[in-house]
Amino acid sequence: MKKRRPSPDAEALAEVRAVYAELAARPVERACTLRTECCHFRLTGRTPYLTRGEAMVAARALRAAGRKQLPERADGACPLLHPQTGRCLIYADRPFGCRTHFCAAAGGPYARREVVDLIHRLERVDAALGGDGGRALPGAVAAALAES
Ligand code: SF4
Repeated sequence: MKKRRPSPDAEALAEVRAVYAELAARPVERACTLRTECCHFRLTGRTPYLTRGEAMVAARALRAAGRKQLPERADGACPLLHPQTGRCLIYADRPFGCRTHFCAAAGGPYARREVVDLIHRLERVDAALGGDGGRALPGAVAAALAES
């Protein structure tokens, strides 16, 4: 029997996860200690932007966590931040921006030159999936949930 080829979407999402894994393996000293300060967008004034592949990975992770919709947040924090536990609902699949953020406690932002090749890989996945560049996290994940 012929082996089924993975769908283009599955290949794209595998590439996004490969980018995350490669970032984690980079010898750049960073230590996210789950303080979640960076998840409070209204306080930080910064919201991560996601390419389409990242949004799809996040949406699938949210579904796997038993959620069909993006939770509502009235306080301007990330909708993926659990209001009671204060933990990220999709930490293992959190977007690239959440991994390379500006949190001083974690070591500050990555320099672009340290990760530019990975950014380009995410941009290629975005183009292959018909995306048109980064989109703010809440809208990006909501759209990916609606499509999946
Ligand atoms: S996806 Fe997770 S790590 Fe990223 S901002 Fe939201 S709660 Fe924080």
